[in-house]
Amino acid sequence: MGGNEAGLQEIGHHVGGAPLQGAQDRRAEVFNPATGEVIARVRLADAAVVDAAVRAAQSAWPLWAETSALNRARVMFRFKELVERHQEALARAITREHGKVLSDARGEVQRGLEVVEFACSAPQLLKTQFSENVGGGIDNFSLRQSLGVVAGVTPFNFPCMVPMWMFPLALACGNTFVLKPSERDPSVSLMLADLLAQAGLPAGAFNVVQGDKAAVDALLAHPQVQAVSFVGSTPIARQVHAEATRHGKRVQALGGAKNHMVVMPDADLDQAADALVGAAFGSAGERCMAVSVGVLVGGCAEALVERLKPRIAALRIKDGMEADADMGPVVTAAHRARILDYIEQGIAAGARLVADGRRHTVAGRENGFFLGATLFDHASPTMSIYRDEIFGPVLTLLRVPDLAAALELINGHEYGNGAALFTRDGGAAREFARRVQAGMVGVNVPIPVPMAFHSFGGWKRSLFGDHHAYGEEAVRFYTRYKSVMQRWPEASAARGPEFVMPVNK
Ligand code: NAD
Repeated sequence: MGGNEAGLQEIGHHVGGAPLQGAQDRRAEVFNPATGEVIARVRLADAAVVDAAVRAAQSAWPLWAETSALNRARVMFRFKELVERHQEALARAITREHGKVLSDARGEVQRGLEVVEFACSAPQLLKTQFSENVGGGIDNFSLRQSLGVVAGVTPFNFPCMVPMWMFPLALACGNTFVLKPSERDPSVSLMLADLLAQAGLPAGAFNVVQGDKAAVDALLAHPQVQAVSFVGSTPIARQVHAEATRHGKRVQALGGAKNHMVVMPDADLDQAADALVGAAFGSAGERCMAVSVGVLVGGCAEALVERLKPRIAALRIKDGMEADADMGPVVTAAHRARILDYIEQGIAAGARLVADGRRHTVAGRENGFFLGATLFDHASPTMSIYRDEIFGPVLTLLRVPDLAAALELINGHEYGNGAALFTRDGGAAREFARRVQAGMVGVNVPIPVPMAFHSFGGWKRSLFGDHHAYGEEAVRFYTRYKSVMQRWPEASAARGPEFVMPVNK
């Protein structure tokens, strides 16, 4: 980081253990969404900076891959302690550039930390299988070996947690890493690089290139990048998956979402209303696991809507740095305008506007990118407010007669990230979990983000590729499987060449 002619902080790259400024770097503005002010400029890498970062990672790889899994895990242990010690500073940096409330930012760091804790068990995770004496004095065993340089491309909405879904396990498995964080909230990536260095990670094993499409394209085309983990919107995820695949790389690309929460008539409606409001408007709806659709089954709709109204009216929407804030601003003025446009489309299409967040202002923060909470009722499946990912504080309600109709609705949607059911009926819950076409399912849990020792990912157009993120799926993604057949024959056992397929008789 440094300054520039305008006196603004400048956010740069971290390559080979040191700051790097590319001679051809373009710049983008970084905003504080609560005030609307430009607070920094971030450098945008071109292919030369990306090449330097990948080469640094490639040079660091042989030594890091040879480091025992136990010693790699020890680096993760030290990193875990450092993140804990700096949790507040990380959370403040998130809130300053993203806008989410500080308590939520602390939670984001915590959920990332849990993946680091999981990565601390690298020696156990990398244990493989051994079959003794499969025939003729031969043992068969497997290895899981690192890939080399892997890249991570991450979205704005979790500048700390989503990178931490990726690099702790990639590094623990013996790879080296190049992170391309979101250009909208880039500071946290450099704080993480600094903490990894303090934890004893060798220089070059973790690099950060700031940038946009140009940097991503350069990573996707670079011959030394073996694998790409991407998290972001569906159009870009699809493009990244296709492009990385075309270049022969392993790729997992997690995309957008439209998460439904179904409320059955037998549900505890106060609990369901609390869950809907928290899951729809937490982080101003800018979560890939936010609930943006409520599906109200049978006769519960009126009673539920009546419970939602006072809860929405009571939301404290303000600068996320304020201790009692429930919801902060959205990330940019352009994103705010896009959300407003969707609200207009919903009104024009005939959905009933129950709560109107269009004109919310915050005293002293008049230039901030704030919106109030918006609730639409009586929406239909053809409306854009139902079909598209708005990624803002807009909750859309649909009414259906029964669970089968709710499932049909969800399974017909193009996205399949998360889905939740609120009910007291175990049979309905079982049916829902079995039949729903989504990667993550909640039963009376509105945002079912799996723990670090499970894996995160959606179905349909919410994920392109074969592997979900973190958990054991990540160990598979970040390693190559090798099978070894081994025999140590006695010298006297030499029998001459064999020409038939060896079989067990
Ligand atoms: P985005 O797709 O605009 O950007 C994601 C990353 O891709 C950023 O690093 C960005 O610089 C880069 N990028 C942008 N345009 C590109 C292009 N044309 N070519 C190559 N790279 C490009 O997403 P965002 O707005 O930062 O994040 C919000 C989106 O991310 C939402 O759709 C949300 O659902 C999704 N998301 C998904 C998950 C998940 O796990 N499925 C998690 C978090 C966020």
